Amino acid sequence: MSIISSHNMLKKAQTEHYAVPAFNIHNLETIQVVVKTAAELQSTVILAGTPGTYSYAGTENIIAIAHELSKKHNIPLAVHLDHHEEFDDIAYKINAGVRSVMIDGSHLQFEENITIVKRVVDYAHRYDVSVEAELGRLGGVEDDLAVDAKDALYTSPKQALEFIQKTQIDSLAIAIGTAHGLYKSEPKLDFDRLSEIRSITDIPLVLHGASGVPDKDVRECIKRGICKVNVATELKMAFSNALKQYFIEYPEANDPRHYMKPAKAAMKEIIKKIIATCGCAGKL
Ligand SMILES: [Zn+2]
Repeated sequence: MSIISSHNMLKKAQTEHYAVPAFNIHNLETIQVVVKTAAELQSTVILAGTPGTYSYAGTENIIAIAHELSKKHNIPLAVHLDHHEEFDDIAYKINAGVRSVMIDGSHLQFEENITIVKRVVDYAHRYDVSVEAELGRLGGVEDDLAVDAKDALYTSPKQALEFIQKTQIDSLAIAIGTAHGLYKSEPKLDFDRLSEIRSITDIPLVLHGASGVPDKDVRECIKRGICKVNVATELKMAFSNALKQYFIEYPEANDPRHYMKPAKAAMKEIIKKIIATCGCAGKL
C-alpha cells in the first residue's frame, strides 16, 4: 500500500528537526503538482483535503489518483483528512483507504473535545491510522467555519498535556497566533508558548494557517518543535492568479490541457519554496 499513515513521517521529522508540509489539494491537477514536485525533491509530503474537498472531488477518486501517482513516482503518500468533525464521515473515509486523520473538536468544550477525539483515536488506531487533533482556536475561515479573530484562543500548555494523555492522539495542532485564509497584517506568533508546549510533550506539533506567515517565522516554529506545516491559501492563490492571467492574455483559450499548465507551474513554485522552508527535501 502506497498510501501511508503520517505517524512515522512526523516522528522522523521530529527526530531530525524538519517539518513535513501538508498541502491542500482539490483535484487531479493539484494532486499531480504536489506529488511530482515532492518526488523531484525527494520530499515527504501530505496531501490534505477538507470535507468540502472530498465531497467536491470524491473520496474514492482522490485516493485512487494519489495511489496511482504514488506508484508512478515511487513515493509513499499520506492522504489526510483536514478539519473533519464527524465520526461517521471519518470512519467511512478510513474504510475507503485514508490513513491520516484530523478530528477537529477545537470549537467544542474541552471535555467534549476529548470525548470525540478519543472515540476517533480508538477507531483509527485499529487500522494503523494516525490522528491529529486541535486545541485552541485559530482565526480566519476554513470551509464555512468562520471564527472571529478576536475570539480565537491560544492553546494552553497545561490543557495540552491533559488532552494528549487522555486522547492518545499522534499529533497536536496548536493555536499560537496563526489564522486560516489571508492575513490583514503580519501575524505575531507566540513562540514562547510553542516552546512551552514542546517541553511538556513528545508528540509531533502541527502549525495550521502557514500561508502568509513569513518564512523566517515558519523556520523559527520548526526550530522550536513544529513537525507539520499546513498550507492551503497560498497554493490556491498561485494557481488561480496564473489561471486568470492566462485568460486575460488568451481570452479565446478553451483547452484545459493548455490553460492548466501555467496554473500548475505557479503552484509548483510555491510548493518548492515551502519544501525549502520546511527543510524536508531529500528526507524521503
Ligand atoms: Zn487548518
